[in-house]
Amino acid sequence: LEAKEEFRHKTLATDVMRPRRGDPLLSVLTESGMTVEEVERLIADTTYSGFPVVISQQSPRLVGFVLRRDLVISLENARRNQEGVVSMSPILFTECDPPMSPSAPPAVKLRSILDLSPFTVTVHTPMEIVVDIFRKLGLRQCLVIQNGRLLGIITKKDILKHMAQMANRDPDSILFN
Ligand code: ADP
Repeated sequence: LEAKEEFRHKTLATDVMRPRRGDPLLSVLTESGMTVEEVERLIADTTYSGFPVVISQQSPRLVGFVLRRDLVISLENARRNQEGVVSMSPILFTECDPPMSPSAPPAVKLRSILDLSPFTVTVHTPMEIVVDIFRKLGLRQCLVIQNGRLLGIITKKDILKHMAQMANRDPDSILFN
């Protein structure tokens, strides 16, 4: 009976992460290939506190995580202070610059605002462990990976909501032990 009880409580990271089925896709940035205009549009169209950066949309391997506020400040700075920056200027989070035509507008390089080792868990990580890590490390969000592919995000608020749901359903939930 005990083992079964425990099994019933085993919520996994995949059960709490966003997006849920039917939600809009995870909003990500790619490490190259996006323009100033595209990133500004993403910022305007969403309210998320941060964005994972991946290699490409086809290969959603995690490169890092960038906070919305750092992105906003850096783009404003680049528009104001960096010579020649226009809407079509490429945004680069890469270490090395990809080859570019001499007539192309100058790139806005943003690797310095990238957190290169954001905390990650896998879809199979029990929420009990995720909660513990959030508490101990004081995390605000963590990313969820499966086989090297970025699948989702869990924020502190997602966890609090999840815990409140569990408490309603079952006050003895292991998450509170
Ligand atoms: P909070 O959870 O504190 O409100 P956010 O505003 O960043 O923080 O996130 C709001 C919701 O959107 C959360 O459920 C979170 O899991 C999800 N979320 C956060 N960042 C992204 C993103 N880049 N793409 C899709 N969903 C996200």
